Amino acid sequence: MKIAILGAGAMGSLFGGLLAEAGQAVTLIDINEAHLGAIREGGLRLETDSGQRRVTSMKVGRPGEVTEAPDLLVVFTKTLHTTAALDGVRSLIGPMTQVLSLQNGLGNVEAIGAFVPKERTLIGVTTWPADLVGPGHVHSHGQGAIRLMSADGVQRPAVAEVVAALSAAGLRCEADATVWAAIWEKVAFNAALNSLCAVTGCSVDQLGAVDDGTSMAFAIVSEVVAVARALGIEANAAKCQANVSHAIATHAGHKPSMLQDMLAGRRTEVESINGAVVSRAKTLGLAVPHTQVLLGLVRLKEQQIAATRRVAGVH
Ligand code: NAD
Repeated sequence: MKIAILGAGAMGSLFGGLLAEAGQAVTLIDINEAHLGAIREGGLRLETDSGQRRVTSMKVGRPGEVTEAPDLLVVFTKTLHTTAALDGVRSLIGPMTQVLSLQNGLGNVEAIGAFVPKERTLIGVTTWPADLVGPGHVHSHGQGAIRLMSADGVQRPAVAEVVAALSAAGLRCEADATVWAAIWEKVAFNAALNSLCAVTGCSVDQLGAVDDGTSMAFAIVSEVVAVARALGIEANAAKCQANVSHAIATHAGHKPSMLQDMLAGRRTEVESINGAVVSRAKTLGLAVPHTQVLLGLVRLKEQQIAATRRVAGVH
């Protein structure tokens, strides 16, 4: 399969590297010159539970440099960059190209929908973790899995081919007709822990220092799950709350991506997580006060960081 990864940061590099090791023809597309240059020179340094190695078989390029239409385009930018990134590779999307998003948050099908029809859009969720250690160097520990389906809900052969390619790369992928419940459960988890950590600067375990940390996280989870259920999606609040409790008890020192983005002076994915929940709740006439307050606080912090950077002349 010809596979292009659009947004080859932590997750895109991990997926690209594992797919290339499994024999797929992989091209990484990104705008991070330092990262692309390091991979061009020495291959991708990939560290997983299977050990440390270099993957040298991938092509890499900036959006304009890649010309061959892939069978599968995997979007792994942060959600706020999806539209610009797809726009940059518009000419690569052929009449048979499938586009897959395993990004966090909501609104991914809609963003991709401006470029390909729903029958060629695959949507899902992954529990694989990854960190970009430095240019050309990605790290992932532990085991994850992927669940996906076609955005129009039809189980066609192309879906099975993508599932098989991801599974053959050790990524443990299943087609799952109930994937929207898993997507919303992850949104509930992220809306709670990411935004609370981003605003407070706490690592996930530090949210357990006072009872309020867990109770605020539970309140957000309940609100998000209520919105999902009002939309007819059978997300499970008890399961999400158990995941939140487990993370607070065991993820010592872990800084969620929203906090990492803030510390690095970048905008966060809050609009596609808390923001998307608040806007869907508004349409349904549901109150989501905790989710909304956290959204407002993250927005304030983002503006403060942007203003500080402007004054310092950092772009
Ligand atoms: P990342 O920031 O490491 O990588 C995103 C990449 O997209 C960067 O390399 C960036 O240069 C690139 N990019 C930005 N604009 C682009 C453009 N216009 N064209 C091409 N490339 C562009 O992010 P990540 O951690 O890999 O996360 C990607 C997505 O996966 C997010 O939605 C995240 O929430 C989700 N996710 C992450 C993890 C994780 O552990 N990192 C786990 C599950 C899901």
